[in-house]
Order: sequence, then C-alpha cells, then structure tokens
Amino acid sequence: MPENSNPKIDYDVAIVGAGPVGLATALGLYQRGIENIIVLDQTRAFRKVGQGLDLLPNGLKAIKYTHTQAYENIKETGNKLNNPTQPNQETKAQKNQSAPRWVTRNVNGEEIRSFSLEYDEWFHKYGEGRVSISWYDLQTQLRTLLPEEVVKANHRCINVVAEPELKCVRADFISNQEVETNPYAHWDDQQEKNKSSSVNSSQFPESEITSIRTKLLIAADGINSTVRQVIYKETPYSEYSKPEYSGVVAIGSGGVYEIPEALSQKIQDLFIQGSRIVTILNQQIAENSTENQTPRIILFSRQSGQCGYLIHTPLTLELLAGKSGKELIDLAILELKKANFPEMIQQLVALSSPEKIIQRPYYIHPVNIPAPNQPKWNMGRVVLAGDAAHGMPPFMGQGANQGLEDAAVITTLVTEIDKQNKWDDLVAIETAFSKYEGLRRPLMERIQYATLTRLPLSSEQYGQEYAQQVYARNIDQIMQTLLS
Ligand SMILES: Cc1cc2nc3c(=O)[nH]c(=O)nc-3n(C[C@H](O)[C@H](O)[C@H](O)COP(=O)(O)OP(=O)(O)OC[C@H]3O[C@@H](n4cnc5c(N)ncnc54)[C@H](O)[C@@H]3O)c2cc1C
Repeated sequence: MPENSNPKIDYDVAIVGAGPVGLATALGLYQRGIENIIVLDQTRAFRKVGQGLDLLPNGLKAIKYTHTQAYENIKETGNKLNNPTQPNQETKAQKNQSAPRWVTRNVNGEEIRSFSLEYDEWFHKYGEGRVSISWYDLQTQLRTLLPEEVVKANHRCINVVAEPELKCVRADFISNQEVETNPYAHWDDQQEKNKSSSVNSSQFPESEITSIRTKLLIAADGINSTVRQVIYKETPYSEYSKPEYSGVVAIGSGGVYEIPEALSQKIQDLFIQGSRIVTILNQQIAENSTENQTPRIILFSRQSGQCGYLIHTPLTLELLAGKSGKELIDLAILELKKANFPEMIQQLVALSSPEKIIQRPYYIHPVNIPAPNQPKWNMGRVVLAGDAAHGMPPFMGQGANQGLEDAAVITTLVTEIDKQNKWDDLVAIETAFSKYEGLRRPLMERIQYATLTRLPLSSEQYGQEYAQQVYARNIDQIMQTLLS
C-alpha cells in the first residue's frame, strides 16, 4: 500500500498469528470491551492442519479465566475426542474397561509408568481436567467465537516498524501464496516446499504490501516468528532471533494400514494391551543417559486395528537432510535396532508408506539465557507470546498450555492499560509487558528444564513437585495479584 500522507491508527491491538495463543488473547480482549482489534494469519485459508495436543489443568484454567465460553466449547470438543462412543453405544467390553491411561513400557512390554487420560481424574487432583483436541479444532473453537471480520487469513507479516511520533507500530503484510515454515502448527509438506529462511521486506514489490497501524502489536506467530526476527534484528539479541535445534527429531506416520494379523496381534498382546496410546523405550538406555537421549516410540492404536506412531530420537540435522521417505524409514529402523527394540516394532515401522512418513526436528527458544544478553519479550509496543517467545519440544505437553497462560496474562494487563487509558503512555506499556515477562519467564525456565530432561516423568518426587508447580496453581488468584 502506498504510504498514506495522513496516516491514521487502525487498531488498538493487532495480533499476528491465529494459532491458539493469538486467538485466545483476541477473545480475552474482545470480551473485556477492547473490540478495535484484528488477528492476521499467513494461512491462505483456515483448513485442517496440525497435530493433536493435550490441554492440561493449567492451560484449561487459563482459558477458563480468559473466556468462559471458549473453555466450555474446548472441553466439550476435547472430551468427545477422548470418549468417541456415546454412552448408549458402548459395548459391554468397553464399559468394563478401566479408565484410559497412557502407558510407558520397556522393550519387554513391562509397564514402567502410566497416567490417566480421564478428565475427571485430573480434575480431582489439580482442580481442573485434561482434554485432547486437535490443533485445528482448538483453532476453530476459538476463531468462531470472534466476529468474522476480526480474524483474517492470507496476511503474512513481513515487517514491523515503530512509529514513535504517531504513538503506534506499523506492520506490513503480504498476501501472496507463500507461508513461513511453522512446524508446530502445520505438519504437512507445504512448509517444506515454501521454506523461506529470512525476512527481507525489500524483496516484495510495494504494490503487494498492505500495512496497518496499531497501538499495540502482539506477536503470536509461532516458533519461527517473523516478528521476533524483525524486532531482534540489529540488536544484541539478534543471535536469538531464530529457534535452536533441540537435538531431538520426530519421525512418524499417522497410520500404518496393512499390518498382517499375526504381527498386529503380537504388538497388541505385548505392548498395546488395550490402551489407546503407549510409549516404548529401552529402560537400560534411559537409566544410563538423560531421557532425551533415549529413543522412544509412541504407538497410537486405532479402533480399526491400524497403528500410528511417532519416534522421538536424538539425531543430527545433517543425518536428516534430504532424506526420502524410504530413507527415513530405514533411518528410523536403524535407530530402533541400535536401541534394541524388538523385531515386531521394527517390522511395524518397515510397513509404513514412504509417502506418508513425516520428519520434524524439534526446536526451542531457550529462556534461560543469562542477563545482559537475555532477549526481552517486548520492544516498546510489540510483545511476543506463546511459541514466538518460548517455543519448545512437546515432551511435557506444555507449549499450547503455557501459551494460553501468556494469553491470560496479556489480556489482564492490556485491559488495565485500556481502563486507565494509557494507550499513549509508553512507560506504562513497557511496565505492563515487563510484568508479563517477570511473571512468565521463571515458570517457563522450569517448564523448559523439565521438557529437556523429562525429569518429572522419571523421578516420582520431582514429578509431584512439578505437578504442584504447574498443574495445581490457582490461575484466577495469580491474575488478581498481577493487578495488586
Ligand atoms: C507433535 C506435537 C505435539 C504437541 N503436543 C502438545 C500438547 O500435548 N500440549 C501442548 O500444550 N502443546 C503441544 N504442542 C505444542 C503446541 O502445538 C504449540 O505450543 C502451540 O501450537 C503454540 O501456539 P501459538 O499460537 O504460539 O503458535 P502456533 O500454534 O504455531 O500458531 C502460530 C500461527 O501464526 C501463523 N503465522 C506464522 N507466521 C506468520 C506470519 N509471518 N504472519 C502471519 N501469521 C503467521 C501461523 O499460520 C499459525 O496459525 C505440540 C506440538 C507438536 C509439534
């Protein structure tokens, strides 16, 4: 868009990214009367993408605080996924089955640990439950509660510029066909085809760029955040613009379809044993190294007798580069063989369709960088939230949950800015965003530590402390103290 000779401020708040965090923040603000907002996403159209995820007590408490109706809708959708059969359709065998659990077994099929997948059991322990929901369903539940004109697709943010004299930020968007890679939101091949390594707005003709001006900009554009790259550029934080490789990769398949009956039965009998989800690891390797250096396979058992799987294994990026589907399968089998996984598991992986195999290295924005180089989550009127601030591998299932906590905190603080009409007061804005970071960063350090060591899973004592620190907190109270 050509530069306007008399620019006006279009929005109070603009949010880049219509993932769970951007949308939850928008809902929270909208519900509290801040209606002059916009959410802009690069996706060409909202469509079914992304993996399934678990919302745990802390994330559910945060969304309940932010927007009660969103919480109710998410809970209903998630619980339907957990219990797909209606009560009156349940077979006798299903009725007699004990509550569903996620079981971890060693390579001999012996149970190492397990936890319940039931909403009520978590609710009883931590004051809120646990639901499984797909990324797309979560996005849809949140998006459809906002007026249609508030959430716009096909807007890929390419640049953000502070305009102090106008007391605003200008953000530039392009509506072409390309999208930035976003491994957490999108698991299809599209991102591979559209890989774009760095942001350079000068590469786009001016005519293709649309700009908006906003009093505040919330960057919820995921782990490969463009806004993060732009605001850290030419600052001491520039080396933290992009996420770093965690050292662990996922190789998986959504479904292995043609499993011979005998093989399927053997895997059922030894490992699945009626569970829907089972993790298998070599306990001996786990005891002699950190849990993240231990290859593991998560099996998802489908009602039809098919099986999906996800292997998490430490691998260098060089080893993965340019591998075909067939080569990935071979690589996965080799990793399983090296870790002494039984033949039947290797055979299952060998049956995967090379076209359907996915590989995804996990990245992280580490938060434990010591001062003075610690990258701040805000610069003036721009603030990072969710994966854009602290993205991490999903081993403790906390990425979206922590992002929902960010959304609750940002909603609270921005609502206060609105109430006190401090939109023009950069000091008040800086103070609010520093408060957000001051509250969230220490918890994120603990969560990332737990994610990278998986200590809460392997040590019972640490696991209990972690559960108290993360799941059992009273989010409503935390929000109240934020304002006192
Ligand atoms: C296999 C796997 C399992 C997981 N399991 C769990 C789990 O059990 N529990 C849990 O809490 N978390 C889990 N996560 C993590 C969770 O998915 C993320 O933490 C969460 O999606 C982050 O939300 P977000 O809104 O910050 O970012 P995202 O979900 O990544 O959304 C970002 C949005 O921004 C858009 N965007 C990106 N760049 C631009 C741009 N330049 N301009 C405009 N829009 C842009 C994207 O299209 C996207 O819609 C898992 C992740 C993976 C990969």
